[in-house]
Amino acid sequence: MLKGGIPIGRLFGVSLRLHYSWFVIFAVVTWSLTANYFPVQFPDWNLGLSLLAGVVTSLLFFGSILAHELMHSIIGNALGIPVHEITLFIFGGVAQMSEEPKRPKDEFRMAIAGPLTSLAIGGVFWAIYFLIADGWEFARAVSYWLGLINVFLAVFNLIPGFPLDGGRVLRSILWWRSQNLRTATRTASNVGRAVGFLFVFGGVFLIFQGLLFNGLWLALIGWFLERAAVGSYRQISLQDALKGHSASEVMTRDCPTVDPELTVDRLVNDQILAQGRRCFPVASDDQVLGLVTLHNVKSIPRELWPTRTMRQAMTPFDKLKSVPPTEDLSSVLKVLTESNINQVLVVEDDSIVGVIGRDNLLSFINIRSELGA
Ligand SMILES: [Zn+2]
Repeated sequence: MLKGGIPIGRLFGVSLRLHYSWFVIFAVVTWSLTANYFPVQFPDWNLGLSLLAGVVTSLLFFGSILAHELMHSIIGNALGIPVHEITLFIFGGVAQMSEEPKRPKDEFRMAIAGPLTSLAIGGVFWAIYFLIADGWEFARAVSYWLGLINVFLAVFNLIPGFPLDGGRVLRSILWWRSQNLRTATRTASNVGRAVGFLFVFGGVFLIFQGLLFNGLWLALIGWFLERAAVGSYRQISLQDALKGHSASEVMTRDCPTVDPELTVDRLVNDQILAQGRRCFPVASDDQVLGLVTLHNVKSIPRELWPTRTMRQAMTPFDKLKSVPPTEDLSSVLKVLTESNINQVLVVEDDSIVGVIGRDNLLSFINIRSELGA
């Protein structure tokens, strides 16, 4: 869901990235600490000292969010729910899971790990605050605020609306009790939407109270939560609808091989328009070189059709992914999404028996939902 951003390194096998929107929130937090919080708490500080405290505190704050997400990832990886990437963005951080937990117990552990980490970090900063002698005002000020914000993070994330951690905890409990992931997800995501709407109303209320910035911010977070709740539920129902069905059920079977030197206009006239075919493995001497689909054809300007060959139009074999005909459709969707590709080959005994595109999956789902199956 979050494409783009700057890679900043790897920790415990997880790559860390800063989304472009993160720089906005980093600047806002640093500025509000420097210009508002520290000058009010410590009127005798000069601007340089406030700025230094602002930058240090802000960096440690985002380090705390990273630790929170990292703990989700470490626990996830230990439980066999792979997390390859953490992205910090304008609303915090996300650990991007490539699949959903298989057991309620795993989901519970993975979800609760984040807020517990924030709580622990908050405790450490408050311990530092209480242990430091009175003279060390700078260190005390920084650690007090960090203790507060980490406890706030823990509490905020425990709000029981999916996809917040608390929503995942709620879902895991509902799932454990009903043994039904789909209804558990629907309930947790509805609570998530309700929380989102409450935030939006709260934000509007604050705006009318004259707290323009805080109100706007709360409303934006609410809007983001509501959208994320809807999106997560859709994603899960999609996986659910596809699960238990195999690649051979939806693949396009009629895929004649074509010669690499065939031109695009010949393909369009002789095969696509005349026979209604949509996918063409490009082969010479029984060796498959690549694949041409309608998608490839559409990306070539019409005036180039007489001169472009299959070899130029195709997606080369090494850029293609393949699955066996027995592969579960939910895994096929995962392959398409993770590799950001539009089709996979269905291969059995080294020969191509079919092709699955995103459109095959979509029409499969549409037909089934229309029939109520
Ligand atoms: Zn979390």
